[in-house]
Amino acid sequence: MSEPTPDLRYQLPDPTLRIGGKYRRAHEGATYESINPATEQRVSVIAAAGPADVDEAVSAARRQVDGGAWSRVSGAERGRILTRAADLIEADAQTLAALEAVEMGKLFHDSVEGDIPAAAAAFRHFAGWADKVTGTTALLPDFGPQRRFGYTIRQPLGVLGAILPWNNPVLIAAWKLAPALAAGCSAVVKPAEDAALSTLRLAELLAEAGLPDGVLNVVPGLGPVAGAALAAHPGIDKISFTGSYRVGRGIQSLAGDSFRKVTLELGGKAPQLVFDDADLELAMPWIAMGNFYHQGQVCAAGTRVLAHESVVDQVTEGLIEAARQATIGDPFLPMSTMGAIVNARQTEQILRYIEIGRGEGATLLAGGRRLDRPGYFIEPTVFRTTNDHTIAKEEIFGPVASVISFKTTDEAVQLANATKYGLNAMVYTSDLSRAVSVTERLRVGTVWVNGWGVPDPSLPWGGRAASGIGRELGRSGIEGDTEEKTVHIGL
Ligand code: ADP
Repeated sequence: MSEPTPDLRYQLPDPTLRIGGKYRRAHEGATYESINPATEQRVSVIAAAGPADVDEAVSAARRQVDGGAWSRVSGAERGRILTRAADLIEADAQTLAALEAVEMGKLFHDSVEGDIPAAAAAFRHFAGWADKVTGTTALLPDFGPQRRFGYTIRQPLGVLGAILPWNNPVLIAAWKLAPALAAGCSAVVKPAEDAALSTLRLAELLAEAGLPDGVLNVVPGLGPVAGAALAAHPGIDKISFTGSYRVGRGIQSLAGDSFRKVTLELGGKAPQLVFDDADLELAMPWIAMGNFYHQGQVCAAGTRVLAHESVVDQVTEGLIEAARQATIGDPFLPMSTMGAIVNARQTEQILRYIEIGRGEGATLLAGGRRLDRPGYFIEPTVFRTTNDHTIAKEEIFGPVASVISFKTTDEAVQLANATKYGLNAMVYTSDLSRAVSVTERLRVGTVWVNGWGVPDPSLPWGGRAASGIGRELGRSGIEGDTEEKTVHIGL
C-alpha cells in the first residue's frame, strides 16, 4: 500500500448525457451518484436520462441513418474513422483504465493490458470490414420468355440500442459499436450505472476520430428508467444487451412484441472440465484465473470446476493455493491481483451465496469472507460441491469456485450440460481426439481448449439457452448489424 491512488479529477469526462455530439443535463434534472467501490467514496454525480432524453437521443441517431451525414459516408471512410478510433483508444489507455478502476474496482493494470487493447483490436478488426459488406449474386432460371438474375445487398440495420454491463465497459461497448459503426448504423448507448464515465470518454474519442455528431449518443441512467425506455423505443432497429438473465428476459419479450432484432448475452455458469491426462502445470493458472480474474465478475467465468476423480484433489489444492496467493486491494497498485467488488448490492449477494453454500453442506476450503476494511473486497473462495448445490447452479458473479468430481467422460459431459446456461466451457486434456469429441458434445457457444480468456473479435461470441440469443463479433457480428435485401431483375 505504498503508492497513492492517482488524482483523476482533471481526467473525468463530463458526467452528463451526450446527445447529437453535445453534452447536456437530463430534462428532469435527475442524477445519481457513482461510488468508488475500493474506497466507498463518491466519484461523480452523473446525469440520469429519462424517457424524453432517450427519445431525443434516438431521434439524433435516426437522423444520421435516415439520409443524414452518416448515411453518405463511404465504407472506406468509415473504416478510416474506426482505425483512428483504435489508435486513439490505445493512446488513451491509461485514462480509460483509470476510469474503469475508480468506477467499478477493476485492476488498473488489467484494463491497461487487457480490456483497452482488446477494445482497440475490435475497432481495428471491424474497420477492415467496413468496405467489405457485400451481398451475393445468382443467375436465376428464365421465367417464361424472361431472362432473370438476382442479387442481394446488405444495408445498415439502422439504429442500434446498446445496453451495457459494468464489468468490461469499454470492451463490451467496443464489441457492440465497432461492428455497428462499420456496417453504417448509428447508436444510442445506455452504460451501466456503475460504469458510465469510461463510456462517455470512449464517445469523446470516437468523435475525435471523425464520427459525425449524433452517430453515437450516450444516455447514462438507471436501468429501469433509461434502459427500459431505450429497450421499448420504437425508433430502435436492434437492441443489443449484455447483463443479467432477469433483465434480458424482459428485453427479449419487449423485442418480441415489436419484431425488433435482439442479441442478448446473459452470462453463465461455465464448466471447466479437467481430465486425468490434463497438463496441470499449464491448466492450473487458467482454471484459477477463470474463477478469480476481475473478482469473478466475468460472464465467461469458469466457476464449475469439473475434475476427474484422479486429479480432483490436486486441482482443489491448486485453487486453494491460488486463493492464498491473491493480493486483494487498491485496484491501482501494481502488486494487487484482485480489486474490489463493483458495489454494495453485489457484495451482499456474493456473501449471501457463500452462506447458502455453507448452509447446504458444501465444503468451504478457502476464503469466504469480506475483508475488514473500507471498500468492497471479498476473499477468493473455494468450495467442494456437487453439481446440485445452489452455488454450483446459479451465476454468483463473484470469486467463488465450486469443485466437482467426476468418474467418466460421459459423466463429465452430462454434468457440464446440466445447467440452464450455455455460454462457454473449458476443456483441459492432452488428448486431441478427446478435446474434439468432448467439445462437440458441449451445449455452449464457445469452447476454450487448454485455456481460458477473452473472445477474439475475429470469431463469434454468444450463448445458448439462458445465456442468450445471437452472436456478436466475427462475420456474424457484422452481418447481424445489416439487413439483407434480395433483388430480382427481369431482363
Ligand atoms: P447487473 O445485475 O449485473 O447490474 P443488470 O442486468 O441489472 O445486471 O444490468 C445490465 C444493464 O441493464 C445495465 O446497464 C442496467 O442499467 C440495465 N438495466 C437494468 N434494468 C433494466 C431494465 N428493466 N430495462 C433495461 N435495462 C435495464
